[in-house]
Amino acid sequence: MMERTLEEILEAMRTDTTLPLTPATLVFGEGSAVARVMFIGEAPGAEEDKQGRPFVGRGGQLLRKEIRRIGWKEENVYITNIVKRRPPENRDPTPEEIEAYRPYLKEQIRAINPELIVALGRFSMNYFLPEAKISRDQGKVFILLGKKIFPIFHPAAALRNPEMMRGFIGAFDKLPVALNSRTGNKDI
Ligand code: URA
Repeated sequence: MMERTLEEILEAMRTDTTLPLTPATLVFGEGSAVARVMFIGEAPGAEEDKQGRPFVGRGGQLLRKEIRRIGWKEENVYITNIVKRRPPENRDPTPEEIEAYRPYLKEQIRAINPELIVALGRFSMNYFLPEAKISRDQGKVFILLGKKIFPIFHPAAALRNPEMMRGFIGAFDKLPVALNSRTGNKDI
């Protein structure tokens, strides 16, 4: 298939009536179309559904604060989710929902072509690395199909648990080096 631009992918998603979780708001993602780093979460929550933007609730504010703290700019990275509509009552996305949104996420990643993908939380991590365990593997660089995958605790989990918060912040401290290193901790 011809490579589509982000705008074309968005338009295709808008008009795809087969996607689950409609009529919730489509939260496509935002940031630079040529970002070196993509942050990928699980699915939009209530605030994201209201605003149509990813990671704008409490967890999102923590994420965005950490991005700025390490000297990066929100507008230079790209922020999105695996599932692009809010599951009711913030339940976990089902395997079928993840599958339904997969082709679009794949296209989005292909269009942006980032060097490093920060997988936020277990769902996002296991999307890329089915065997990985979040408490064991967060803060490590995995190489998958030539891209670095960096799992990190979900910011909402970090807000609930001080130990996860330390892990979350510690992993962010490592991100600039992870981005510029030539190798990962683990090749898969
Ligand atoms: N949690 C996520 O995983 N994604 C969002 O966009 C907001 C909260």
